[in-house]
Amino acid sequence: MNFPQRTVWCGEVRPSQIGQDITLNGWAHRVRDLGGLLFVDLRDRTGLVQLMIDPETQGKPDIRPETCLSVSGRVEPRDAANVNPKLPTGQVEVIVTGMTVLNECAVLPFPVSDEEQMVKVNEELRVKYRYLDLRRPTMHQRLALRAAAVRKIRAYLDDRGFIETETPIFTKSTPEGARDYLVPYRLEPGKFYALPQSPQQYKQLLMVGGLERYYQIAKCFRDEAQRADRQPEFTQLDLEMSFATQEDVLTLIEGMTLSVINELIGDFALEKDKVEPFTRLTYDESMRLYGNDKPDLRFALQLFDVSEQVRDCGFGVFSNCVQGGGFVRGVLYPGGAKLSRKDVGELEELCKSFGAKGMASLYVESEAHEGSIDLGGGTFVRGAMAKFLKPEETLALIAAAGAKGGDLVCFVADSWAVSCEALARLRLAIGEACGLRDKRKLAFAFVLDFPLVDWNEDEQRWDPTHHPFTSPKAEDLIYLDTDPGRIRADCYDVVCNGTEWASGSIRIHRPDVQARIFKLIGVSDEEQQSRFGHILEAFAFGAPPHGGIAPGIDRMVMFLTDDDNIREVIAFPKLGGGYDPMMDAPSEIDSRQWDEMGLTKKPVTK
Ligand code: ASP
Repeated sequence: MNFPQRTVWCGEVRPSQIGQDITLNGWAHRVRDLGGLLFVDLRDRTGLVQLMIDPETQGKPDIRPETCLSVSGRVEPRDAANVNPKLPTGQVEVIVTGMTVLNECAVLPFPVSDEEQMVKVNEELRVKYRYLDLRRPTMHQRLALRAAAVRKIRAYLDDRGFIETETPIFTKSTPEGARDYLVPYRLEPGKFYALPQSPQQYKQLLMVGGLERYYQIAKCFRDEAQRADRQPEFTQLDLEMSFATQEDVLTLIEGMTLSVINELIGDFALEKDKVEPFTRLTYDESMRLYGNDKPDLRFALQLFDVSEQVRDCGFGVFSNCVQGGGFVRGVLYPGGAKLSRKDVGELEELCKSFGAKGMASLYVESEAHEGSIDLGGGTFVRGAMAKFLKPEETLALIAAAGAKGGDLVCFVADSWAVSCEALARLRLAIGEACGLRDKRKLAFAFVLDFPLVDWNEDEQRWDPTHHPFTSPKAEDLIYLDTDPGRIRADCYDVVCNGTEWASGSIRIHRPDVQARIFKLIGVSDEEQQSRFGHILEAFAFGAPPHGGIAPGIDRMVMFLTDDDNIREVIAFPKLGGGYDPMMDAPSEIDSRQWDEMGLTKKPVTK
């Protein structure tokens, strides 16, 4: 089709072009019929410009929103009263001299041009008509930011000698803790490829291949329960380095993150403070101080442990718990003494929903209230537990919490794991309620020294905390046969604002060590050969020491755009259950394909 092609982008028409004849290509964004004259905002990727159509010269075309147009016209200044200071093109308009409808637009499923309405539109509908949803400037900005992030990452790594290498999508299972997506193999019915949960084994084999520094913007596929920050297929920056120590990997990833994110904040004028160097804490510290291994460090609030202090106290809930091997830990709610009984009840419900038996609370005040106990020195307390404690016991708890008049102190008495989980959630809720989770901040941290394995109570076996290729710390190998839970790994995560962003480790590079770890996690000799024989064999050919890391690209963009949902930063995301309503995928295959694949449908047994 021949049509007049753009000479100027819509968003770039300026007063300097007044008097010029230009051609624009784009979509009718909004159409206003003001009696005599027709005003159309024409939109392309760069923005909007106002068109003025005079029916005396052009007739009165019936233009529906989102019609695709080529428009020629003359740039003219707007009347002073009509100048729109909010638009970069707001000082001018284009007086239309010719218009070609390139394609009509059907009735829209949602008002593409109305941002206020669009945020309320049902997500399934947006994803079904993603090609229309993508026309919104908000969506363009997200994708442009994502593209810029990837471009800067590539430049950073290319400059440092990394070689970008693609690895196969049709492969063999690479465990990362999820279920595999499988693809039937037509030539030998009954055999399947697995889609990679990550390029983990390939990148290690590239190190055996002497590549020394590899990266890839890699698609990973994991069949697991979906959450707001998870997709069945997602993108990560996957990288690996030979002859590298943990410190080398950490330095590289920290340097890259600071450089890339701070540049993006500047280039896109994002409402974010510059990212500071990463905090470092060990896994044990993280669990002790924040209750989980992905703390939100935008706020300082830390958990405290009073188990020893309350071992023999008068409050049976506490003393019995500690004497029975449990822990009494807590967190401060700054200014929380003003909360109503109902508010505190909700905090307790939150703790219970994460497994805690309950939550005890102490209101600390600097003046007397009905039912409060005077501890002397201008300190008063309320709360059921206070009645069971001696004043000096209560004062010691207040000191451990660092509470002052006006604060609420919350306690959970439970097992270590439950107190971690419940208090981590409580800490986040307090941070949220007190406005401490500042949207301007991106608080990155390294969490180091994870345990190598976790005990899987259901299956009665040790599972790798990360994946089976993670190296145990050399000094902890002595516990391999006696106390595997004590082995720490040369393994690290990067977390940001309470979300895990990257995970990596120094790898095992010797076949004997790898075989011992497989054995520990219950992979039999036979299975080692059938599932991992290739990598064990490769390690026997002088594999170098190596390590790497893999930060999530989708999550990185989410941090920058403040989206809570990963689908917002992916052009064509999947909905719950991995469904794509636009393509209607997954979908049935025809009977010929069943036969070709040598597959027969098994009835689903529930
Ligand atoms: N393969 C790991 C993952 O995808 C990352 C790594 O260890 O480098 O989580």
